[in-house]
Amino acid sequence: MKYHRCAGRSGRGASVVLSHGSLGHPALCRAPCVHIIKNGYCEKGFECDFCHLPHGRKVRLNKSQREALKLLGPGQKLAIIVPFIMKKVSHIEDQQADVLLKLLQNSLPEEIVTDDPLMKQLRLVNLHRAFQQMSVTALLDLLSSCLPSEILAAYEDLRKDQLDVADQMIFCL
Ligand SMILES: [Zn+2]
Ligand SMILES: [Zn+2]
Repeated sequence: MKYHRCAGRSGRGASVVLSHGSLGHPALCRAPCVHIIKNGYCEKGFECDFCHLPHGRKVRLNKSQREALKLLGPGQKLAIIVPFIMKKVSHIEDQQADVLLKLLQNSLPEEIVTDDPLMKQLRLVNLHRAFQQMSVTALLDLLSSCLPSEILAAYEDLRKDQLDVADQMIFCL
């Protein structure tokens, strides 16, 4: 278990038990833990699969965005979403991030067929903006049905690597 102690604004110390779900926060972590949000405390401690660190408002796709997403075939989905993931992963300094980047690059379809009316519709519902604000984890979730399993494995490896990074950091609430 990892306790990180730091002085809050009041001068009193606040401590957080990082969770497994927090690894790679904020880009690669899991959804925030409801127990932490509700009670400021989670019984599962490090074993919790949800993130224990503070999160901003969750980016949710609205109805028209979800409908537009449904119009996309697997190839189009990859072609549109993977570049957003790559951009976010490219900011992570880690050897595993390079491995993941290469796999993502390879997953891009060679020939991207995106007819204009469809692209226009996507722009209209502001999907690109939503993708920009979503975490790598949330974006991968959107692609879960069309991603090769080695990409998900590389993502898990990268999260595990973040355990060492977490050891060197002090998180403040
Ligand atoms: Zn997080
Ligand atoms: Zn928890």
